[in-house]
Amino acid sequence: MIYSYSDYEHSKQLNADVCVIGSGAGGAVVAYELAASGYSVIIVEEGGFYSTKDYDGKPLNSMKTMWRGAGATVSFGIPSISIPAGKCVGGTTAINSATCFRTPEHVVHQWKQRLQVNLDFKELESYCERVETIINVTKLPWDVLGNCANIVKRGADALGLHCKPLMHNVKNCKGCGTCQFGCVEGAKQSMEVSYIPLALQYNAMLLTHCKAVKILFKGNKAYGVQCVITNEAGEKSTCTVNASVIVCACGSMLTPLLLKHSGVRNKHLGKHLQIHPCSRVVALMDEEVNGWIGVSQGAYIDDYANEGIMLEGIFVHPSILAASLPGVGNDFLQLVQRFNNIAAFGVMVHDTAEGVVSGNMNAPLLWYSMSGRDIETLKKGIAYLSMVFIAAGAKQVFTPLSPFPVLHSMDDVEKLEHAHISRKDIPEVFAFHPLGTCRMAGDSSCGVADSYGKCFNTDNVYIADGSIVPTSLGVNPQITIMTLATKISRHIADTLAHTRCV
Ligand SMILES: Cc1cc2nc3c(=O)[nH]c(=O)nc-3n(C[C@H](O)[C@H](O)[C@H](O)COP(=O)(O)OP(=O)(O)OC[C@H]3O[C@@H](n4cnc5c(N)ncnc54)[C@H](O)[C@@H]3O)c2cc1C
Repeated sequence: MIYSYSDYEHSKQLNADVCVIGSGAGGAVVAYELAASGYSVIIVEEGGFYSTKDYDGKPLNSMKTMWRGAGATVSFGIPSISIPAGKCVGGTTAINSATCFRTPEHVVHQWKQRLQVNLDFKELESYCERVETIINVTKLPWDVLGNCANIVKRGADALGLHCKPLMHNVKNCKGCGTCQFGCVEGAKQSMEVSYIPLALQYNAMLLTHCKAVKILFKGNKAYGVQCVITNEAGEKSTCTVNASVIVCACGSMLTPLLLKHSGVRNKHLGKHLQIHPCSRVVALMDEEVNGWIGVSQGAYIDDYANEGIMLEGIFVHPSILAASLPGVGNDFLQLVQRFNNIAAFGVMVHDTAEGVVSGNMNAPLLWYSMSGRDIETLKKGIAYLSMVFIAAGAKQVFTPLSPFPVLHSMDDVEKLEHAHISRKDIPEVFAFHPLGTCRMAGDSSCGVADSYGKCFNTDNVYIADGSIVPTSLGVNPQITIMTLATKISRHIADTLAHTRCV
């Protein structure tokens, strides 16, 4: 059952075995797994439920409804970094690029060594396989991956690098390239298309436009969640969901703030924010690219992964990409007139810096300053990607670095490689993967949750979203979040079964 605006009238108090707050990568998985295990589940989601009928392929329209703060979530620090997130059923998966990577084994090993996290890689793999089956992780053919992927592959081949197709959670994807603004083909198997409908089949209840504002405790035991509902006119009312288990899955920006506001105390709450800082390189080709046709994130090069660099496709909607092209006046006009010849690809850094989330749930404040090492890594990634484009035949390569706006040759790239770049020289940095703000650890002196996602110093509050992922991964995180959420659900199901027997 789905509750929307007018359905709340007579439902001020609701009861369930489990209340899941947030319907994104973590929350949707927990909701389905526990509903399918026979528990009554209520999902509380601040955003609305959108589907193909609501999408017109225009970025600004989707950003207004589906993106938190209409896309204006940024970090303070130098450079200031745009860190968007979803605010809708499906969470950020509804606006993501559908790229799927398994959790790297060496990263899990580091978590075990550094934070005494008790995770068994083989066990995680079995949960991961379950996730991949449910969301249909698939390899798409090169023609659907688009011309940017083909051009980068050509450059990579010429340099002896390996450009490989990314895996995507899609069914019958035709590559219309609007993944981040709601999949107009309904091909992306994001949570509102996959796990949430499955949870509803098992009688889970979904409360949309309903924001959890406080978890209610008696001592260390939580007994409910206080929520605020906003109707179409913007009027507010309240309801309470009473439950035996509360699962926080609001994402890395908001879960620590909800826990803090609810009285949970832990010195790691909101700390250790890692984000995978990213930027892009744009190339002007002689050939027609028509980069907007095809999957926007089609392929990747991981030859530099041991340097902390992942090169991953990203061709965003022309209305956004055009705005980031260099030049003014006539120069800009001439470049935009050749938009068909523009190719773009991204650089992602496996970061070493850590930031903090503070503020309150209405206005989360993200503080993150890139470390000197990460700036150097990003610069190198930009240089490597520029090399690939030049090897593929690009005549001009536009970087996001203000001292090197345009490169024309391998000599230019070499100069860039040896130049010192400071924080202020990279005005255009984005990040799509906030993680770690309620990290898992062996005990409360190192983290916020145990290896089953249970929040330390509480009896029955669990965390199942990006915030428990202890560090950045070097790869896109949705599969890792869903894998951990599956593990956490199994543990909650076992615990509830045990409680019922006693
Ligand atoms: C543009 C973009 C592209 C991306 N592309 C990829 C990709 O291709 N592959 C990949 O692996 N990752 C990608 N990501 C990241 C990935 O989607 C996220 O890491 C993942 O969805 C995070 O899962 P989560 O459960 O932590 O939070 P989310 O998926 O963000 O879900 C949190 C949910 O909680 C809700 N919520 C928050 N507070 C409250 C509250 N108080 N009450 C009720 N509800 C609340 C939110 O509205 C939201 O729906 C991308 C991200 C972005 C922004």
